[in-house]
Amino acid sequence: MELILLNTIPFHVAESGLMELLRIRPETKAASDFSLIFAQAGKAARPMAAFGVAESKTLGEDTVEINGVNFQSRVLRVNPDKAGVVFPYIATCGPDLERWSESMTGTLHKFWAEAIMLTALGCAVNALESHLKERLGGTAVSAMNPGSLEDWPISEQAALFKLLGDAPDKIGMRLTDTLVIRPLKSVSGIFFISEDGFSSCALCPRKNCQLRRAPYEPGLYEKRYAPR
Ligand code: SF4
Repeated sequence: MELILLNTIPFHVAESGLMELLRIRPETKAASDFSLIFAQAGKAARPMAAFGVAESKTLGEDTVEINGVNFQSRVLRVNPDKAGVVFPYIATCGPDLERWSESMTGTLHKFWAEAIMLTALGCAVNALESHLKERLGGTAVSAMNPGSLEDWPISEQAALFKLLGDAPDKIGMRLTDTLVIRPLKSVSGIFFISEDGFSSCALCPRKNCQLRRAPYEPGLYEKRYAPR
């Protein structure tokens, strides 16, 4: 499988914007403390990402094979049905930034460090999406992430890391025995071409989720994914 590593992604984050988001008022003691921490973080931040270009083949109603690795998910089997090509990916804030964050003491500084790591992860995801969009000439893609749906549980994370070969190692990511990704501020998933657009949230009935990106659509699973 062709693997593309993005390991020179710049950490382009506006300090003032992040301060506003964190409700830190300018020209206060908190603002100068934050500036110091942000400057330290900027030296350690190295957001990175990787993706592969692979073909998915249907093996059964709920099974798809991607580059010799089997995945159990009806939604993942159905979603890339038309194009067949998929882009397994990983993105991270980077291990150096996580190590730096471990030196933070005090609840507030730890909270700021978490926010900085999330923005670094955001840089990695944005760079990955831009790279993919450019490669596909603007064709729309959607993503699925292991663990986001009952249909594609977190246990499938192991198959995804297996599929990506040595790419996680090359960008400082690893999967623990308990299926936790390190650094913690990392994401993984599979992009696929989708003109209609897909969001796992449309299939997820969870209430009060602050990360919801699309409204829940009752009946969507039965309409689009249930066996006929
Ligand atoms: S609603 Fe929340 S929990 Fe459900 S898929 Fe979306 S982000 Fe995940």
